[in-house]
Amino acid sequence: MQGALSGERLGTPAALNFFHWEARRRVILGMTADEEVRRCASCSEPAVVLAFEWKQTFNGVSTGSSIRDYRCQNCGARFSLYPKAGSITFIVIGLLLVVTFPMAVLGWLRLRRDGRNPVVPGAPRPQMRFPTGPPARKCAACDNPVSLTRVTRSRHNGIPMGTEYEYACAPCQKTRVIESVWGHLISTFGAVIVGGIGVALLLWSHTPGWRFGGGGVALAICLLIAAQTATRVANRFRYPLVD
Ligand SMILES: [Zn+2]
Ligand SMILES: [Zn+2]
Repeated sequence: MQGALSGERLGTPAALNFFHWEARRRVILGMTADEEVRRCASCSEPAVVLAFEWKQTFNGVSTGSSIRDYRCQNCGARFSLYPKAGSITFIVIGLLLVVTFPMAVLGWLRLRRDGRNPVVPGAPRPQMRFPTGPPARKCAACDNPVSLTRVTRSRHNGIPMGTEYEYACAPCQKTRVIESVWGHLISTFGAVIVGGIGVALLLWSHTPGWRFGGGGVALAICLLIAAQTATRVANRFRYPLVD
């Protein structure tokens, strides 16, 4: 489903050592027969469907864990089911200290969510009333709808680093990445920091190696991130929203 098309994924240098949550889109206004329906804890209707499944990878290797995003098609409620091991870890860490106690509460709430929104065996597919996932986009060059091929949500030490949406245009044989606004802020922040270090080294370092080597490398990385950000902002116009 992904990978065969020519892409312009540069890959951020800082992406190493990141935890990635990748998702294949599971629902596009319609369901495959094997998808389960759950009863909604908010409205009690059997109308909850899986919107996304995020598969975790660490340095490109799958960890086998996944986060499942659900949405109730009756009342619009959303929730995510997290790996049980992670929730139990939260509870254990949360109970160690007073300041970490909210983690225990969060872990407990996450653990209970599965049972509060139980699977209803054999329940019919609800009518899809609420959108799941990112909005539909089209290709500005050929006017065809583009398909979402991959979504990557990155975290660094538990801090969200933004979400990348990879879209493919089959007629144009191209894939392009559109980044979340938060991702743009994070990369701009990173470029400013690295660029600032580069300028500081060029201006004030006394050793030529640090001055021109270190400063040059820092500025090159800054330019690379800035170029990637510019490309991804432009991609919002190359693959505009379908209205
Ligand atoms: Zn509901
Ligand atoms: Zn196209």
